[in-house]
Amino acid sequence: MSATDVHKVIIVGSGPAGLTAGIYTGRAELNPIVLAGFEFGGQLMTTTVIENYPGFPEGIEGPKLMDNMIKQAERFGAKMVYEFVRSVDFSKSPYKLVTDENEYFAESVIIATGSSPRRLGLESEQAFWGKGVSTCATCDGAFYKDKVVAVIGGGDSAMEEATYLTKYAKKVYIVHRRDAFRASKIMQERALNNPKIEVVWNSEVKEVLGDQFVTGLRLFNNETQEEGILEVDGMFLAIGHVPMTEPFVGQVELDSHGYVVTPDGVRTSVDGVFVAGDVADPVYRQAITAAGAGCRAAIEAGKWLEEQE
Ligand code: NAP
Repeated sequence: MSATDVHKVIIVGSGPAGLTAGIYTGRAELNPIVLAGFEFGGQLMTTTVIENYPGFPEGIEGPKLMDNMIKQAERFGAKMVYEFVRSVDFSKSPYKLVTDENEYFAESVIIATGSSPRRLGLESEQAFWGKGVSTCATCDGAFYKDKVVAVIGGGDSAMEEATYLTKYAKKVYIVHRRDAFRASKIMQERALNNPKIEVVWNSEVKEVLGDQFVTGLRLFNNETQEEGILEVDGMFLAIGHVPMTEPFVGQVELDSHGYVVTPDGVRTSVDGVFVAGDVADPVYRQAITAAGAGCRAAIEAGKWLEEQE
């Protein structure tokens, strides 16, 4: 592969969307390049067992599922390149993609960069990152054996993380900014029925406190307007996700939250640039929906390439 090669299709991202696109464009003999980022596999690399991916009645480990997808894509000729796309130029064809190491050119592109966990945006949160502040219970939960932790958020992720953390921690607080969860009923019930979990309602984290490691949170109760300290050894954020669209700003149309705008779930504002997965999906965000989207984007990219000939 030389720097001046123009590839038929380049896929950016290596979660279920990107790798499914890799399988399909590979089987269509388009010799896809998958610019996989530094860490392949996306968010499923930080999950444990995935129980709702069809075809695995006993569940499958997230990293195992992603490893299988890579092997399957490679089997059909997809080339995995572990570089991180910093910027793109979609103003003229062939489209240019720039990583730290190289420049790549492609007739068509599939954006499948996914999303990453949202942060509160506090200075103290940054200061204690990795020292008691985490976005991944399955990665870091084991460090909190017999300790006290807080999970921030009121969605399914918060319920899931809190429930998971009870395996290790002796006490898990769920700190939520409102007086009701948005999580599904079944996930709420599972968390609320767990004797180790206690909910702190109507509360916002104003500061993460600690010395070397987290020792507590300064909370503001927006109902009573009072501040208080919650003593914890760790804080797990589960407050949603932000799409990974930084390299595409000004190149494809993004909505006000940064998600790629797509009229049909596949096309973008640029002819020949397609999108798949969480980077364009604030709603479903499931491995299977991302994989399905990767399949659709690959088929459409193939059709589009044929039309150009
Ligand atoms: P989410 O549903 O968007 O929930 C985010 C939560 O964080 C909300 O409760 C929100 O509060 C809170 N929040 C957002 N920004 C905040 C801030 N700056 N400060 C404090 N709190 C903040 O996100 P999610 O829980 O990650 O779930 C995303 C999607 O994945 C959902 O569709 C969910 O069903 C799905 N999911 C499914 C499963 C499963 O089925 N096993 C597991 C995890 C996720 P408000 O409620 O006040 O807005």
